[in-house]
Amino acid sequence: MNLNIDQIRGLFPVLHQEVHGKPLIYFDNAATTQKPKAVIEALVNYYELDNSNIHRGAHALADRATRYYENTRESVRDFINAKESAEIIFTKGTTESINLVALTFGRKFIGKGDEIIISTLEHHSNIVPWQMLCEEKGAILKVIPINEAGEILFEEFEKLLSPKTKLVSIVHASNALGTINPVKKIIDAAHLVGAKVLLDGAQSTSHLEIDVQDLDCDFMAFSAHKLYGPTGLGVLFGKREVLEAMPPFLGGGEMIKEVTFEKTTYNDIPFKFEAGTPNIADVIAFKAALDFIKNLKKSEIKAHEDELLAYANELMKDIKGFIPVGTAQDKVSVLSFNINQMHPFDVGQMLDARGIAVRTGHHCTQPLMKRFGIEGTVRASFAVYNTKSEIEQLAEGVARIARLKNK
Ligand code: PMP
Repeated sequence: MNLNIDQIRGLFPVLHQEVHGKPLIYFDNAATTQKPKAVIEALVNYYELDNSNIHRGAHALADRATRYYENTRESVRDFINAKESAEIIFTKGTTESINLVALTFGRKFIGKGDEIIISTLEHHSNIVPWQMLCEEKGAILKVIPINEAGEILFEEFEKLLSPKTKLVSIVHASNALGTINPVKKIIDAAHLVGAKVLLDGAQSTSHLEIDVQDLDCDFMAFSAHKLYGPTGLGVLFGKREVLEAMPPFLGGGEMIKEVTFEKTTYNDIPFKFEAGTPNIADVIAFKAALDFIKNLKKSEIKAHEDELLAYANELMKDIKGFIPVGTAQDKVSVLSFNINQMHPFDVGQMLDARGIAVRTGHHCTQPLMKRFGIEGTVRASFAVYNTKSEIEQLAEGVARIARLKNK
């Protein structure tokens, strides 16, 4: 089956507008994807028909809202092939999911002299929580180096592993470069020394088939808004036995079994980690996003995006002054680049004037930028609704901007 991209574009209202008098070309998908009509309608329907607090109500609306909320949990389970839906915790996003692990698992199981391994490719949200934990506990943060293409050096990773390693927390696909890490190998090696593994799936889940049972990761964190779903919502997957051994995250309603002034007993997973009224509307609408992806099939989405990336590389490689950043063998559809002697922000603004939305700067990966000796890049990231004609316009824009500079 070949995807009908015109038909898919018809499902995304936001794409059909002009910016600065030019048709919008949206290439900022690694920051957040656009939302199909079905997601927007699910949000409206919820507020028009079903709005109610969940889990505690004795009435029809509460019952309905609870059912829809829990249906999404089951869809997420299916999406990443977790063993059971109790292993799916709803959070605010990848950032909160990682912080949850740091503040519960980390505080309980990581102590003085223990080691946490991350990589040079990490987003700040997979660096800072571990630095904070290391500072609190006297633990040590180790960083896997990368090569010039932006690929981790696996042998160096193996050298960092030891019985002191308690956690390996690593990005599955880099937001800044697109590199796909060999996570299966990483997980297997980490488990050999008894370390747990957290995968930052913020950028991988929209492009790659995910099977957490096959990967055997202990945790996986990702965000709904990068998956054609609503903002302010994310997921933490954790293996049952690991989640059960962890203390709760926030205290409050819903996460308890029984409260007395003397002692509180905690609820079972996943509720132990979902204190307070959750983001009900967005959870419910997220199911429509997951259905959208499932109907198209990830393999088809990836094949289309790979084609776009290859086409972009082909059109841009000979532009004088074009400098690609991140040339890994295995990549998701992220094209990071610079134009010789130009500030990325200026390039971004000139592309914006042509209706082309890209992201510029350090992409919340300052240590990675430092590794390449640059301040930032221009990043064009592609999603299923992008077209070859849009790529041609990007290449034309970049060629013109580079020519201006070379004059
Ligand atoms: N990790 C990666 C690789 C990301 O790309 C992002 C978002 N740019 C995050 C973590 C943080 O995600 P969020 O802002 O949705 O919490």
